[in-house]
Amino acid sequence: MSRPVSSRERNVPLGGPASVVDTACPLDCPDACTLSVTVRHGKLMDIDGSHRNAVTGGYICAKVRKFGDRVYGPDRLLHPAIRRGRKGEGKFERVSWDEAMERIVDRMQRAKAQHGGASILPYSYGGSNGLLTQDNFDARLWRRFGTSRLARTLCAAPTGAANMALYGKMPSVTYQDYPEAALIILWGVNPSASGIHLIPYIRDARQRGAKLVVVDPRSTQMSRAADVHLQVKPGTDVVVALAIHRHLFTAGLADEPFLQAHARGVDELRSRAEEWTFEQAAAIAGISASDLERVAELYARSSPALIRCGWGLERNRNGGNAALAVLALPAVGGKFGVRGGGYSMSNSASWNIERPWIGAPEPDTRLVNMNRLGRALTEYNDPPVDVLFVYNANPAATVPDQRRVLKGLEREDLFTVVFEQVMTDTALYADVILPNTTFLEGYDFAKAYGPLNIALANPVIDVVGEARSNADVFGELCRRLGFIDEGEPSGELDLLVHVLDRLPGTIGDDLRNGDPPVPPFGPAPIQFVDVFPLTADRKVDLFPAALEATAPAGLYRYQPDPATDKYPLTLISPASERTISSTLGELPRPDVKLAMHPDDAAARGLADGDLVRIFNDLGEVHCLLWVVPTIRAGTISLPKGLWRRSTRNGFTGTALVPDSLTDLGGGACFNDARVQVTSLPTA
Ligand code: SF4
Repeated sequence: MSRPVSSRERNVPLGGPASVVDTACPLDCPDACTLSVTVRHGKLMDIDGSHRNAVTGGYICAKVRKFGDRVYGPDRLLHPAIRRGRKGEGKFERVSWDEAMERIVDRMQRAKAQHGGASILPYSYGGSNGLLTQDNFDARLWRRFGTSRLARTLCAAPTGAANMALYGKMPSVTYQDYPEAALIILWGVNPSASGIHLIPYIRDARQRGAKLVVVDPRSTQMSRAADVHLQVKPGTDVVVALAIHRHLFTAGLADEPFLQAHARGVDELRSRAEEWTFEQAAAIAGISASDLERVAELYARSSPALIRCGWGLERNRNGGNAALAVLALPAVGGKFGVRGGGYSMSNSASWNIERPWIGAPEPDTRLVNMNRLGRALTEYNDPPVDVLFVYNANPAATVPDQRRVLKGLEREDLFTVVFEQVMTDTALYADVILPNTTFLEGYDFAKAYGPLNIALANPVIDVVGEARSNADVFGELCRRLGFIDEGEPSGELDLLVHVLDRLPGTIGDDLRNGDPPVPPFGPAPIQFVDVFPLTADRKVDLFPAALEATAPAGLYRYQPDPATDKYPLTLISPASERTISSTLGELPRPDVKLAMHPDDAAARGLADGDLVRIFNDLGEVHCLLWVVPTIRAGTISLPKGLWRRSTRNGFTGTALVPDSLTDLGGGACFNDARVQVTSLPTA
C-alpha cells in the first residue's frame, strides 16, 4: 500500500510564503476539530477551525488558538535531560537521547530484577486521545515488561461504568440530531467551557421551539438561557433523577410496553425510586420541589426528549449511581426510537476499535487506581513503586490528595521519567525528562467522542528542538527491550500505516482517501432503531446485579453529604475556558479566583478581591476571592486544571480533594472536597 500523504506534502512545501494546511485536534475534548493551520518557514503562525468539517464549522476554542504559546513558549522542553538538583527544584542537565534511553532501560531492568515488573508504574491520561499517542507501543511496552497496570479513572469512569452496565455502551445521539429534540436536558455539563461545538445545535433546537433544562450547581450562560435551571447541591443528582423516575412510575407515565420488551430490573429500580418524592429529593438537593416537578412533567410529556449526560455529576461519592439514574430515564420514560430522543454522552467506544496493533495480551499484574497515586508512591510495598513513567499527564497538579502525591514524587529512591511537551509540575520532579512533540509536529488520529468523526492529524510544522513522538520513543524502548519483531513498524509514519491497515471496516481506506469515515451504524444513529444495547441479551439492564455488590450503599442509593461543622463548604472544580483538563495550564493567566456566593462571603466577613485561605485537613490553597451570585450558597468553585504556579501558595484545588473513590467505577471524588475559607492577611 502507499503511505498516506500529509497536508504538508499535499498542499504546499513549508518554508516559502505563508501557507494554510489542514490537520485535526486530538486533545481531550469531545469535538476533535478539523484545523486550518497557517505556517511559514515550517513555523506556526495561526490556528483556526476548518470548514471541511461541518461540526467544526470554521471556528475553534480560544484554548487551541493559543497553542503556539505552548509550542514555542519558555516552558517547552527542547532536549532530553537528567536531574542535577533536588527533586522539584527544576535543575537539569542536557543529555543525548541515547544516554537518556539507556538510563531508563537500565533502571527498569534493575527494578524488575529487584522487586519484579510490578515495581514499575506507567502513568498516563488524556493529554492526547490519539490512537498513536495512547495505547499503542506504550501499552505493548508495559504489557510485555509486566509492569503494574493503571486504572485510568480520573474522569469518565463512573459514567462509563453506568453506561456499560445499562446499555453496553450503545452509541448515543450525536450533535447533528440535537435540533430534532423538543426538550434538551443538559445534566452536569457546560458546553460553553468544553465541547463548544454543541452550542449551535442547541441554539438550533431552541429556535425550533425546544425547551431547555440545565442541571448545574452554578449559573452559567446556558442555565441563564434555560426554561428551568435546577441548581442542585453537588453530589445529589442521583436523588433528583430518582424523583423523576418515581413520578414516571407513579403517574402512569412510564413506558411499560417498552420496558417489558426491552428492559430488565424494572421492579428493582421502581422500588429504589419509591422513597424519593419531589419534596424529599428537593430538600436533599437544595432546590425547589415545584421546579423539580416541572422538569419531571416536561420530561414525561416531551418527545423527542434528549438528555446530555456530562461528567460534572460523577465527581462525587454518588457519581456512579447518579449517572445510572440519569441514563436510565430515557428507558423508563420511553424516549428512544425517535431522532433526537434518548441520551447523549461519550461516544468514544462507538467505533469498535479494539487496538490489535498493541500486539500483546494484558497481563494480570497489579492494578493501581490512578486517583491513588499518592498512596501508591508512599504506602505500597508489595512491591514498592521503584520506577514511575509519566506521559500524557501531569499528576502533580491533577490528582487528588496533592500533598501526598508530591511527597511520593519527592522520594529519593523513586526513579521518575517524565515524557512531556513542557516543564509541568510533575516534570520538575523527574530524574529523566524526555521532550515530546505536540500534535502539530507529528501524525495521529483524532477521534471525537461527541460527534461521530475520526480524522488524521498531520505534522504541519517543524519539530521543535529534539522532541520525539510517542510512537518513536515507545517504539525505541520496545526495540531496546526486544519487544518489536523483525518487520514490525519502525517509527511514527510506519506505525501510522500499520494502524490504518488494522482499523475496522473501511475507516483506514477512507482516511487514506481523505474521506470522512462513516461508523458501521451510520453517521447519526437513532437509539433503538439503528443501534441497540450491546448487553448480552440486547436489553437495558436497569438493575445490574453485579454492580449492586460493589457499590458501598447499593444501586440507586444516596450517600449523605460529607460536610462537617468544621468544613461546611463544598469545593467544586469545573472545566474552564482556559485549559483542556490541565493542558495549557502553563500559560500566563489573570489571578485565579475562588468563586463564592455573597451570603457565604458575608457570613465570613469576606469581600470581593480579598486574599483567602481555603483549607481542610488535607491541605490549603491561597488565592483571591470573587464574590459572585452565580454560584449556589454553600458551594465554592476553583477552575479545573490549575497548575501550582496559578495560586499564591503553590497548591491547587486537588490539595483539598480526598482520594476516596466514587460508588461505581473507582472514579475521583473531586467534588467531595469539604473546606472552610478565611481571609489571609496580605502581609
Ligand atoms: S480542544 Fe476541542 S474545541 Fe478546541 S480545537 Fe480541540 S477539539 Fe476543537
